[in-house]
Amino acid sequence: GLVLGIETSCDETAAAVVAGGTRLLSNVVASQVEVHRRFGGVVPEIASRRHVEALLPVVRQALDDAGLELKDLDAVAVTQGPGLVGALLVGIAGAKALAYASGLPLVAVNHIEGHLYANRLEHPELEPPFLCLIASGGHTELLEVPAWGAYRRLGRTRDDAAGEAIDKIGRVLGLPYPAGAEMDRLAREGDPSAFPFPRALRGEGFDFSFSGLKTAALNEIRRLQARGPLPVADLAASFQEAVVGVLAEKALAAARAVGAGRIALAGGVAANSRLRELLAEAAAAEGRVLYVPRPAFCTDNAAMIAAAGWVRWQRGERAGLDLNAAPALSLEDPPGDAG
Ligand code: ATP
Ligand code: MG
Ligand code: FE
Repeated sequence: GLVLGIETSCDETAAAVVAGGTRLLSNVVASQVEVHRRFGGVVPEIASRRHVEALLPVVRQALDDAGLELKDLDAVAVTQGPGLVGALLVGIAGAKALAYASGLPLVAVNHIEGHLYANRLEHPELEPPFLCLIASGGHTELLEVPAWGAYRRLGRTRDDAAGEAIDKIGRVLGLPYPAGAEMDRLAREGDPSAFPFPRALRGEGFDFSFSGLKTAALNEIRRLQARGPLPVADLAASFQEAVVGVLAEKALAAARAVGAGRIALAGGVAANSRLRELLAEAAAAEGRVLYVPRPAFCTDNAAMIAAAGWVRWQRGERAGLDLNAAPALSLEDPPGDAG
């Protein structure tokens, strides 16, 4: 089965062709990050307009790279949500038009489920049951995955997402938006124990909270700013350590609690080298196997949407031409509802 994936939930216009849910034939990502950077975050209205301009060229490129025509495909999979409503609508309208014109079935995909499927793309041998930590710009969740497409949530953030906290503190430290990759790099030059930032809900279940940490870091930064140049690398290293330290600890504790021998990471923050290092060591010490997608599959892309869409297509799930965007779609919602 050849599936074209389309992703426009935030500020990446992306299209990809994946065969059999695991074999990548093309993967095109047009990022708008340069446009949004000067605003320090994504401006929804600009994002929608940019998606309109980029979508068809990106789809054309994905088909060309794969050496295929629309008529060679078996399905069109598109992100239904969660995400920015205007941005989602552009991808959905484009996917509907392509499906209608070509007679191909349309499949609706949950963006967060897509992040999870980046693992299947990277590691075709990965099979449930496994534990998944999803940490992205808008989500931080610990899920038990008993079977493909089935999810049991063990915990989630009570306030900010991990990526959101990283981007906010990164901004105050003068890093370009989004700050994750740059904080990751800078942190390697700093001392992670320079500032003892708080780690909320430590040892208390599987929920996360990053707002207290964010406030503590902000206060420390303001205090230091009044004194002279900021020790940016030490601040980045200490803040990052507090964020990914809690993520790693809770993922391991959850794996122990449910007896998961496999742990998969997903979402943009899963690209973080320190998180990967901490979990790789700790998981191996307990005889658990850690699965991580390559960084380009962690951040937003359409290959993961095609991979998730393939599974739903194979199950016979189809979306109608009345498919609507679902900006707050949750993993527990059935996909493909009119929204
Ligand atoms: P969601 O998937 O929840 O809808 P999103 O699509 O905006 O949100 P992603 O694309 O999955 O989020 O991830 C983007 C986030 O990942 C940003 O907050 C970014 O700073 C962070 N990120 C990217 N690379 C790294 C890294 N190496 N270390 C830490 N964070 C990173
Ligand atoms: Mg993005
Ligand atoms: Fe995402």
